[in-house]
Order: sequence, then C-alpha cells, then structure tokens
Amino acid sequence: MRIMISADMEGATGVTWTADVQVGTEQWQRFRNMFTSDVNACVAGLYGGGATDVLVNEAHSSQRNILLEDLDTRARMLTGRHKPLSMMQGIDSGVDGVVFLGYHTGAGVEGVLSHTYLPNQITGVWLDGVHASEGRLNAALAAEHGVPVLLVTGDDLTCEDANDYVPEASTVAVKECVSRYAAICRPPSVTATAIEDAAQSAMTRAGRFNGTITGHRIEVEFDAAHLAAAAAVVPTVEQLDVRRVGFDAATMTDAMKAFKVVTAIASGAVEGSYG
Ligand SMILES: [Zn+2]
Repeated sequence: MRIMISADMEGATGVTWTADVQVGTEQWQRFRNMFTSDVNACVAGLYGGGATDVLVNEAHSSQRNILLEDLDTRARMLTGRHKPLSMMQGIDSGVDGVVFLGYHTGAGVEGVLSHTYLPNQITGVWLDGVHASEGRLNAALAAEHGVPVLLVTGDDLTCEDANDYVPEASTVAVKECVSRYAAICRPPSVTATAIEDAAQSAMTRAGRFNGTITGHRIEVEFDAAHLAAAAAVVPTVEQLDVRRVGFDAATMTDAMKAFKVVTAIASGAVEGSYG
C-alpha cells in the first residue's frame, strides 16, 4: 500500500500568520516543528492502517520546511523545489491514496492564509467553472491517476471545502478560522492524536479506482491588469478580461503544468509593493 502525503504549511497546527510560514524567520523555525509533528502523526496513522510505503512531498514555498532529522523513520521525503507537478510530484498510477496535509482555502475566500499558489496576486481560480482551491485542483489530478484522497487537514473552512470536492475523504480541523490571520488553535499533541486516528481509519478507503482522463479548463483572475497580460503571453492562454485569463488542456496533468507556467510568469511580473 503506497501512500503519498502532499504537505503544505499554511494549514499546519498553530500557523496563522505570514511569518509563521516565511522561510528564514524565527517564527518559521518554530512552526517547522509543529508542521513536522502533523506529518509524523499522519505517517503513524497511515502505517497503523496498513500502509507499507509513505512518501511525503513538501508542498510549501521553498519546499524545504519539514525537519528530516525528526521525520518518522518509516517515511521517505521529497524535499526541494522545481518539480514538474509541484505539490503533487510523486503521484502516479501506483499510488493507493493521497493525503492533503496542512492545506488551506483558495484565493478570494475566507480562511487562514487563504490563497492559491501566489500569496496575494491571484484573486480567484476556477476549474471547469467551479471556484477551486489548491485542494480541488490537486484532487482532480489525483483522480486522473485513479488515486483516492484519503484525508485532508487544515483549518475548519479547508475541511468544509474538502467536504465539497472529496465528500468521501476524512478531514481534521487543526484550528478554527477567526480571520485570515487568526484562528483558535489546539496544541500539537492534541492535533497529532486527531490526525493519527483519522489517517488510520482513512486507510480503509485506500486502493485504486479507474481514473478518467478528460480535458479541463482553468481560469485565473489576478489583482492587477499587467499580471493577466503577462500570463497571456503563454501560448494557449487567452486573456478573457482585464484581470482574467483562461486556458484549456487535454488532461488535468497538462492543466496543472500550464497553471504552474501561468503563476510563474505572473509572479515574475510583480513589481515591489505596487504588485
Ligand atoms: Zn498552499
């Protein structure tokens, strides 16, 4: 039973603020421990439920956040940036289940540190006309490979979002959103128990299903006109409105690769505090 954990940091235990997830800050150093604790709890639960191989794919920012030296020795970790499938690198048709750990809500909606890929410049993303978080996008990619989403952890609104795009998946709310930068949090020892229990019982749904490969359409809205214009330079990406672009792709895998290009080009066009 091969399981993959896609581990993001904004939805980790205790995280509520920019510095908590910003590489190099004192707060980030502190929250790396809580992030690693969430991951270890998940690994323990997955093995308790019958997993035989767990790959942790770091999905946040520099993708060098989890403390390898403290990682459960049964797990393997994919760390570092520049991976073709980014948050979902490692997904393939041999994986029996995926966990979205430390996830958050999408750009333009409520939720602790809500965003989609770029921290602030994207105001909304739509997958086939439905407002999409990173979780919804990544679940569609997993489905294409026939891989079920077993468990999603994050704030309570992230869990609500997951209930909509993968209603069969388990969820653990490690914190209750009060605002984009505030949450009612539970200590890591408490959330670890909840994550471990949920991961263990979610393993009953591990296994493969026949994924369908279909075309998908992604639309992206930015907070400034020049970012949409920059993204529209990419062949097949069409400028739909002053701040909005869209593109079609033959598969979800291609759609996510194109989305990665669009976000990379747009972030390269951001100029200081004017954005
Ligand atoms: Zn994220």
